[in-house]
Amino acid sequence: MTQQVDTLFINALVLTMDENFSQYLPGAVAVREDSIVAVGGEEELIKEFSARETINCNGKVLMPGLINAHTHVPMTLLRGLADDLRLDVWLMGYMMPVEREFVSPEFVRLGTLLACAEQIRSGVTTFNDMYYFEEDVAQAAADAGMRAVCGQTVMKFPAPDAASYEDSLQMAREFIQRWKDHPLIVPAVSPHAPYTCTAEILRATAELAKEFDVPLHTHLSETAFEVENMREEHGIPVIPYVKKQGLLEAKVIAAHCVHIDSGEIRTLQHAGAGVSHNPSSNLKLASGFAPVVKMLETGLNVGIGTDGPASNNDLDMFEEVRLAAFIAKAVTNDPTSLPAPLALLMATRLGAQALHIGHLTGSLEPGKRADLILVDLSPLHNSPSFKRAADNAYAQIVYAGKSTDVSDVMVNGRWLMRNHQLLTVNEEELLVQAAEVARKIDAFLIDREQSVLSKLIALGGSLEQESFEVQVKVKLAERDSILQALKGPEIDVIRKRHYREHDVYFFFDDPSQGRLRYREDDFIDDKGAVTNVRARLTLLGQKREGKFEDQVLLSRSRYIAPASQSLRFYREYFKPKSEVAIEKDRLRWRILYKGTEFFVNLDQMIEPQLGYYLEIKTRTWSRKDAEHKAQLASELLSVLGTSGGEKVTEDYIDIVRTDALQRATRVSEA
Ligand SMILES: [Zn+2]
Repeated sequence: MTQQVDTLFINALVLTMDENFSQYLPGAVAVREDSIVAVGGEEELIKEFSARETINCNGKVLMPGLINAHTHVPMTLLRGLADDLRLDVWLMGYMMPVEREFVSPEFVRLGTLLACAEQIRSGVTTFNDMYYFEEDVAQAAADAGMRAVCGQTVMKFPAPDAASYEDSLQMAREFIQRWKDHPLIVPAVSPHAPYTCTAEILRATAELAKEFDVPLHTHLSETAFEVENMREEHGIPVIPYVKKQGLLEAKVIAAHCVHIDSGEIRTLQHAGAGVSHNPSSNLKLASGFAPVVKMLETGLNVGIGTDGPASNNDLDMFEEVRLAAFIAKAVTNDPTSLPAPLALLMATRLGAQALHIGHLTGSLEPGKRADLILVDLSPLHNSPSFKRAADNAYAQIVYAGKSTDVSDVMVNGRWLMRNHQLLTVNEEELLVQAAEVARKIDAFLIDREQSVLSKLIALGGSLEQESFEVQVKVKLAERDSILQALKGPEIDVIRKRHYREHDVYFFFDDPSQGRLRYREDDFIDDKGAVTNVRARLTLLGQKREGKFEDQVLLSRSRYIAPASQSLRFYREYFKPKSEVAIEKDRLRWRILYKGTEFFVNLDQMIEPQLGYYLEIKTRTWSRKDAEHKAQLASELLSVLGTSGGEKVTEDYIDIVRTDALQRATRVSEA
């Protein structure tokens, strides 16, 4: 008596990717409802099963669908938006500002459907995602019929879908509750990375993942910079740090792990964490080479991922598998490293295990879900075929196969593609909608890139509003007399500080943009040691508002933001036409004169060496008040007895430029 099944695949080269790398030729696979019932030789299975539909595979490879172990699928809509940039400039300067403006549930659904179409075409049946509005990613993936682990992002910055981390954590909780028993979707929580999360967020997300027994998907040790910062701040590398926060108690899926040592690899292995190796992304962003061979030798479950389509820029797992094998060989200087069967295993069963869903998918074995693909090995680029050794087929797929060789895709027993025809998504419609989104993003960025101010605002962070600044500046021969004068009875000193200031001014093609100053203040204590460092960005208006009372300056349009990125970041982001660096030693007093607050700065110009300057400054938000304060500032100048000094009507950068010009003139005259 034969057993009844829904589909019987026959006349295939079956690559099971099971523990023994079992192959069958001619092989067969029997599928009933959503599951694989039997895998084996064709002759045997034909005797044992009668099927509603028998599919003659015509000698194609029948294998488990590929597992894309790390991605951000909605970013298909940002593909090709900004490339050839460093990770921080790319992320903070372009991706995040555009995401804040455009990412919505509709955006996420459209981007996900596009990604599903692309992934189904390239033989991917499962992907592991992390993004905003992840519930919409889940819905779109389920609509397309794909299996997915969907991680709702949680981080310390406001996100497109949440004003605070508490909000996104609550979203993650509700999302997990609603989707926990879905046949295709495994909901998860995604603390973005240790450097975008606080310790508290890492602990809270781990607790949430444990409470519902769902995976926790995060980025770990992607760049050397990240590890350096972690060592500087906490004295330990990234893996011990996240372990300390309890993160590894959850079912972790760690993307990247490029910069980890043997001890950290063992820690991850002991914790049962899965790793996603992302060759294209690591190459494109020059992040380095993950110690993949070492991880595999230690017994870690290492899958392969494309990462988001904005940093790859495609979702082609065939390419990733090949790169994974090639890079491992090059890095270990050993062509026997990461052979084809192992590379393909990473993209199938090991990948599923890394996602903690190895019991569901990743290999063709009875009891697992029917997630399978047919790969045609007959196209020109992949001919002829050798049958002599068992490894021939793997090598053929890994080293010569292309995603376009995938002809048929089934997930959970449902056909998603038959003979290269997509059955669950409408590509033409999606492409029209994607083009429309791209047009809007283009317009947004073209507009933003026209103004230094709007680029500054796009970075986010708190910005101080426009204000008036009253300023008097005097060149001094020495500074002792000022130090004496500050002890006078009319001056009430509130606070005194000492610091060294490093300023870099950015200049732009269009002078009306003003100039941007990156200032680093090193606070100096009584013993002359640096105690604290603070960096700020200030956009200075180009034009003076006017002069009052004998060379008191009034300037306007100053926007101030904390500089949370490096000088190199701002240089690459703002692309100034030229820059000038200035360094000075500054004694700064906050004083009250006639009930009005002033700052008195006594500066020694160190780079370039231009002697001593006295500066009296105060800030105000109304022009009328500015005029009053300008009067007081002028008075204060005589109280400080600066009659011998030479009043200057320029800011430091102008002084430096004037000096450079004078010197150049002297040289040319001589
Ligand atoms: Zn990523």
